[in-house]
Amino acid sequence: MHVLILGGTTEARALAGLLEAHGSELRVTSSLAGRVAQPRLPVGEVRIGGFGGAEGLADWLRAHRVDAVIDATHPFAERISFNAARAAATAHVPLLALRRPGWVPVDGDDWHDVGSLEEAARALDGLGQRVFLTTGRMGLAAFADCPQWFLVRSVDAPDTPMPPRTEVLLDRGPFTLDGERELLRRHRIDVLITKDSGGAATAPKLTAAREAGVPVVVVRRPPAPEGVPVAATPEEAAAWVRER
Ligand code: NAP
Repeated sequence: MHVLILGGTTEARALAGLLEAHGSELRVTSSLAGRVAQPRLPVGEVRIGGFGGAEGLADWLRAHRVDAVIDATHPFAERISFNAARAAATAHVPLLALRRPGWVPVDGDDWHDVGSLEEAARALDGLGQRVFLTTGRMGLAAFADCPQWFLVRSVDAPDTPMPPRTEVLLDRGPFTLDGERELLRRHRIDVLITKDSGGAATAPKLTAAREAGVPVVVVRRPPAPEGVPVAATPEEAAAWVRER
C-alpha cells in the first residue's frame, strides 16, 4: 500500500513516523511544498515541490499508484487542501484530512477575531503600538503600511514588503512558555497577532499574552473542502490507514 502524506506540519511528521513503524507492507511518501530553506524532514521517502495544481496531483497519484492520501498540511494552506480534494476524487483515491483543532479562548483572554491578515492590520488601530507578529513571512505585505513597531518571527528571512519599523526574529517552534513570557517582556509587546493554527507547539504565546494582559488578534481559519473526513491527531490518521 502506498500512502501520500501532504505535509509541512508537526503532525505530518509524526504521522510519517507512526506509519513507518509498519515496515515493508506500507510505502509512505511525504510531500513538502519547498517553502522553507532547511525543512525538518520526516522519516521515510520525501518529495519536494508543487505538483502543478489539482490535475498535476491527480496525475502524480496515478503514476505513483497511491492508495490513500492524507492531507496533513497546515490549516491555512487552503489551496493544496482544495487541490487534494479534487485530485483524490479524480483519481478515485481515498482522502483523509489530518487537521489539528483550532484554539479556543479561556477566561482572561482578550481575543479579537478577524477573517484575514488585511483585517488583522486594520484591527491594530487602538489595540497597541508594539506588535508581535507570528503569522509567518508569506503574508507580511498586508502589514506594509502599518505605522506600529513590529517584532516579526519567522523560520526564514522575509523577502516581501514589511512594515517600515520591523525587527525580524528567525526562529521556529516549538516554543516554551518561559521563552514567550521573556520575549513579550523584553520587547514590551502590547499586541499579538496569530493565525488560529492550533496545536501545542506554538500555543505558549497565547498563555504568555493572557498573563501579561496583551490583546491577541486571531486570524480565523479559511474554509476547508467539504465532504473530506477529518482526523484530529496523527494516531487517528494512522488508524484510518490501518483500516484500509
Ligand atoms: P497553499 O497556498 O495551500 O499551496 C500553494 C501551492 O503550494 C499549492 O497549490 C501546491 O502547488 C504547493 N503545495 C502546498 N503544500 C504542498 C505540499 N505539502 N506538497 C507539495 N506541494 C505543496 O500552501 P501554503 O500556505 O503556501 O503552505 C505551503 C506549505 O507550508 C504547506 O505544505 C503547509 O503545510 C506548510 N505551512 C503553511 C503554513 C501557513 O500558514 N500557510 C504554516 C506552516 C506550514 P501545486 O499547485 O503546484 O501543486
